[in-house]
Amino acid sequence: MTEKYVYNFNEGKKEMKDLLGGKGANLAEMTKILLPVPPGFTLTTESCNRFFSEDQTIWAGLDKEIKDHLKDLEQMTEKKFSDLKNPLLLSVRSGAAQSMPGMMDTILNLGLNDRSVIGLANTTSNERFAYDSYRRFIQMFSDVVLEIPKVQFESILEKAKKEKGVKLDKELDGDDLKKIVKKYKEVYLQETGEDFPQEPMVQLILAIKAVFASWDNPRAVFYRDMHAISKLNGTAVNVQSMVFGNKGESSGTGVAFTRNPGNGDKKLFGEFLLNAQGEDVVAGVRTPNEIAELKTLMPEVYQQLETAAENLENHYKDMQDIEFTIENDELFLLQTRNGKRTAHAAIAIAVDLHQEGKITKEEAIVRIKPQQFEQLLHPNFDAKAIDKAKALAKGLAASPGAASGRICFTAEAVEAAFEKGIKTILVRQETSPEDISGMVKSEGILTARGGMTSHAAVVARGMGKCCVAGCSEVRINEDEKTVQYKGGVLNEGAIISLDGTTGIVYLGDIEKTNPTLGGKFTELMDWIDEIKTMSVRANADTPEDAKQALEFSAEGIGLIRTEHMFFKENRISSVRRMILAGTIEERAKALNELLPMQKNDFYQIYHVMGGLPVTIRLLDPPLHEFMPVKEEEIRHLAETMSLSQEELNGRIDELHEVNPMLGHRGVRLGITYPEISRMQVRAIMEAALEYQTDKKIEIQPEIMIPLISDVKELVYIKAEIEDEIKKIFTEKGQTLKYHIGTMIEVPRAALTADKIAEEADFFSFGTNDLTQMGFGFSRDDSGRFISEYMDKNILEKGPFDTIDQEGIGQLVKIAIEKGRQTKPNLKIGICGEHGGDPASIEFFQRLGLNYVSCSPFRVPIARLAAAQAAIKYR
Ligand code: PEP
Ligand code: MG
Repeated sequence: MTEKYVYNFNEGKKEMKDLLGGKGANLAEMTKILLPVPPGFTLTTESCNRFFSEDQTIWAGLDKEIKDHLKDLEQMTEKKFSDLKNPLLLSVRSGAAQSMPGMMDTILNLGLNDRSVIGLANTTSNERFAYDSYRRFIQMFSDVVLEIPKVQFESILEKAKKEKGVKLDKELDGDDLKKIVKKYKEVYLQETGEDFPQEPMVQLILAIKAVFASWDNPRAVFYRDMHAISKLNGTAVNVQSMVFGNKGESSGTGVAFTRNPGNGDKKLFGEFLLNAQGEDVVAGVRTPNEIAELKTLMPEVYQQLETAAENLENHYKDMQDIEFTIENDELFLLQTRNGKRTAHAAIAIAVDLHQEGKITKEEAIVRIKPQQFEQLLHPNFDAKAIDKAKALAKGLAASPGAASGRICFTAEAVEAAFEKGIKTILVRQETSPEDISGMVKSEGILTARGGMTSHAAVVARGMGKCCVAGCSEVRINEDEKTVQYKGGVLNEGAIISLDGTTGIVYLGDIEKTNPTLGGKFTELMDWIDEIKTMSVRANADTPEDAKQALEFSAEGIGLIRTEHMFFKENRISSVRRMILAGTIEERAKALNELLPMQKNDFYQIYHVMGGLPVTIRLLDPPLHEFMPVKEEEIRHLAETMSLSQEELNGRIDELHEVNPMLGHRGVRLGITYPEISRMQVRAIMEAALEYQTDKKIEIQPEIMIPLISDVKELVYIKAEIEDEIKKIFTEKGQTLKYHIGTMIEVPRAALTADKIAEEADFFSFGTNDLTQMGFGFSRDDSGRFISEYMDKNILEKGPFDTIDQEGIGQLVKIAIEKGRQTKPNLKIGICGEHGGDPASIEFFQRLGLNYVSCSPFRVPIARLAAAQAAIKYR
């Protein structure tokens, strides 16, 4: 069987994305369901792959397939490709299996030349249209195929408009455009040393090659890197017969979303331009009209568009992003895809689609990307602060959120500032794919031109980055690096704030607040909680953290790092004296000072959690971390301890360790200083007894021992703790249930978990340390080389972000199996950073963990990820 590399639109379907690319598969699907799609064909992603293995050439077989399909297209359209009177003109567009907005390139009006442009002008009786099409073609072809900078052409166009005293392209007539075409061709000749290619077939092959080659351009590579897209074949190429939106005022082009991509409202949303072509709307050169205006201007076309939108949405069962062209009052669809949307809209749409009976609850949950939650949890401006802030200008509210930073005019400037930890706002006339790295690293984006579907708006929404676009009230001069507004001028480095929800730009930095969530979010979260099987707890060290965690519906606290309570200003001195004490009595004195403080902390946290499980870990870090560093602090501490500075320095030196992460920390501290563990346990238990008496709510504290590597450590420390608890119960004449468990964070503990489980009421994986010790990568130092490991494909993902399933994950698996051999119902959770990472959560679901615990802000993401994992592994 001969290999097939080209498919007619009527041969494909939406499921063929991998082969035909997203655009090609959807064009085929729309053709199949009889929507008005101009005919065409698609060169497969496999052909792109082969193109690269053939040294970037079009091999004979592909050449023949292209020509055969072109013949069919000529028959379907009843036009001839090289015809001088009524030529078949083509668009050539890229489209990979996953959408990559703005990354790849498009050429329109291909097939025009010096002679057929005259024919086109005559047959359409529209000279302006013919030459407008030709000048666009020359510009796009030059840009995509030969990388001649667009600005060379744009300046000619701008100059022509200026000389004529007009503002808009469409105010130029046929004669003007004829002159422009002549000048464009001169640029081409100057830049390439050759005349603009006149033979349509040559144009087509060059264009196809260029689109294929653009798969490997640095922008596309950067985009794929950023989105971790690695397993794609290449881009498909769609060759489609042209329809024209630039034939006059009864023609136009636009983009429509079937629902509002900003807030999810069920109403057609989008923009269009009359007498314009393809890229004009997204390029943001002219500010487009809102789609509602089309209803007044062309009611019938609007009606058709609304019906097509509804059909598409019913067919795809998701919000669609549609590109359309109107040619002499006739509607054509050029593209559909699942529309990008803000997190807010994604939730509203998923909830509505379920309520409209179009998708199940499970489908609604699976639709939401965990990363989108990040966007929802972004801060907003503080209401009072915003009232006082000085507004500079208003643009389009392109992507929600609040951002403040220093003005930078280039992606490079943003990147340089980022390296220094300086927050920036990327300010551009309009953005293009070259700006992506700057967009990623800035706090927010401001553009002067372009609408809601401009590059800046679409890309920022996808990234969840705050963006104000099309802010024509400011004048941005990228050369002089100034932003002119009504009240003055700002230079590079000045601080501004953007409100992506209102489109307002402010002077200076503005205080931000955390968002509150409700409505459809709550509804979705209720479904999530119905479906997920793992609990989601939070790592919280203070009552404030605990409150935040509860707001996000955490089901308990999985880790209190008690040492964080030691760092408070009024405590650190007692902590230092406790550590540096020369005698047991001195230490006891310092511990007695700390006891009421710790006890109060625990009481407050129990109070916030109202009976939900709370896991408290005993002191973990190496003691030297608490030591003073500044001369003045050392002097002060020496005074309070009645020691000479020398003596104190001597004791501090004794605490020095070459390898503190593997040193005197975790349970090892409890073994050397059991009185510290005893004080902490006393605080935990006395607070629980008091709370229980006060509030009549049962508390079962979970006391967690860190860094166990051998069961005998646990036996030792448990005996100490239980002895102290017994004393407390006798003193108070009261008892309560409690649990003593352990972290599994040393590889040896994982491998001997069956023995450890004999002594432990629960396990909690400390995957931060387990990764550190399993890999032998220092948690504190490995950042420097891990990025290099990823660049060189030695590691696919950072092992401290996403659990390494193959190695560290196996330690987790072994520990679970062994632990449950001993105690089949052993409660097991995880409280390392991986507890908030969706990919890791999926893995933990498979292993049968009871809960994950993560920082409060990640709780909603973890709940969603847990529900998605439960659906996947039902
Ligand atoms: C861990 O090691 O994963 C953990 C939760 O403890 P810490 O990060 O405090 O060492
Ligand atoms: Mg740890």
